[in-house]
Amino acid sequence: MFLLPRDTYTVTTTKRKGRGVFATRDIAPGTIIGDYIGTLMRPEDENEKRDGLYTMGIGALYDVLASPKKEGIHLINHSCAANCGIYPYRGHILYIATRHIFDEEEITVNYMLGKAHDEKNTECSMHACHCGTKICTGTMHENDTAYAIWEALEKRESVPWQKKIPGKYGEELQPLETYSPAISLDDLMYQYPAFGSEQKRPMTFQETSLPSLAALSMQIRKTGRQLSFPKLHFAIYGIRHGMILGERTN
Ligand SMILES: [Zn+2]
Ligand SMILES: [Zn+2]
Repeated sequence: MFLLPRDTYTVTTTKRKGRGVFATRDIAPGTIIGDYIGTLMRPEDENEKRDGLYTMGIGALYDVLASPKKEGIHLINHSCAANCGIYPYRGHILYIATRHIFDEEEITVNYMLGKAHDEKNTECSMHACHCGTKICTGTMHENDTAYAIWEALEKRESVPWQKKIPGKYGEELQPLETYSPAISLDDLMYQYPAFGSEQKRPMTFQETSLPSLAALSMQIRKTGRQLSFPKLHFAIYGIRHGMILGERTN
């Protein structure tokens, strides 16, 4: 279920990734994109071969299986440089914008697939990533650090909801009566990576020393752009879990 106004997004077919969701207006960081709605199921009944990547795990008690025939945030594609994050909220999973999203940009999220199959995850062709960003790891599987951060957040947010299923197995998860209008930028700061858009010109700074990680991350979130420091010969694509991802420039 989308929680964005209908004139803010569109669902279209992409060349390599099936359907995708695109912004049709600028979207502010912290905006709630939607709630992951679908059928409540037991985690042990998860079956990716049958259901595809439409199952969202929420805690130990239940998963939500979205229907690909319906429109909803389950149609949002994975990206290694996602502009949205998964946000556990009152037993539901919301997607929120982790930075400014530009009109016409694809809305993307990191699926946070844990460690799987083999040690390196590189062998897994089933979850190959085609996001095409400069920092693409080639796989939808997360490394251990990123996944541990996600698990800590999920645990903290969903503890009160661990003992309760919001409905019956086999039935549709019902939307909440109300959702906060937005999540504050400070809430996003330490839990979600921030990546600037690759389609837009970077913001340029004339500083001769690098600002703090928090300041850099805030700039990316507010502007939606990558950051360029010509005097330092450095361009920043994004910040991921305390690490700057970027490249040297001339
Ligand atoms: Zn895999
Ligand atoms: Zn990728």
